[in-house]
Amino acid sequence: MRVPILTDLLDLFFPRECPACEEFMRDEDLMTGSLVCQICLSRLAGLRLPPEVVRVLDLPVLSAWDYANPLDRIIPVAKAKNQPRLFDHLAGGMVTALREAGLIDYPRLIVPVPLHPSRRRERGFDQAFRLASSVGGMIGVPVTRRGLRRIRSTPPQKMESRERRLEILHDAFSPGHDAARITGQRIILIDDVVTTGATLAAAVRALQHASPAGVLCLTAARTG
Ligand SMILES: [Zn+2]
Repeated sequence: MRVPILTDLLDLFFPRECPACEEFMRDEDLMTGSLVCQICLSRLAGLRLPPEVVRVLDLPVLSAWDYANPLDRIIPVAKAKNQPRLFDHLAGGMVTALREAGLIDYPRLIVPVPLHPSRRRERGFDQAFRLASSVGGMIGVPVTRRGLRRIRSTPPQKMESRERRLEILHDAFSPGHDAARITGQRIILIDDVVTTGATLAAAVRALQHASPAGVLCLTAARTG
């Protein structure tokens, strides 16, 4: 009888090709359980943004990475294939950005941008919640999934203009059952990627109904 070796077992769980560059992964990469190859992992390091809070639609936003190659391939694949470990790696970068920006002591409560329940069921993976719980665990700050509710399911809007996105997303969120925990607290609102800022703006608008002391948006990545 042939004894299965580690690589065989890993093949069952991990793809043999790097999702970012589509080259075959080396055995060493597979052994470490890395989702992407070492080359792409080192390119990822080159995408780190300076730890500065920028204004997006007048919201304060801190992001860890530039949403460029290979990250713009890795994030969609990790979401589609439900690969949570990559999101832990991204969360580590978000914590570093918070620390380097001098904001590590800012948050008292972490709120992920929620998916609509129908999207959540369909996808089975909630990337913003995954990032939020990972960041919360690393810095010892509570996370609530009930800070916000997504009350309207919005279609994918990549092709829409910023104005149209703002219009579509207006009233997409409402305060959740944990709204009372938000009152008077400094909140970090977490999402995976910020593009136009329309989603974050709609989520912050709903959070404001609960009168937080302040809201900082923290995302893994930001488009240039
Ligand atoms: Zn690669």
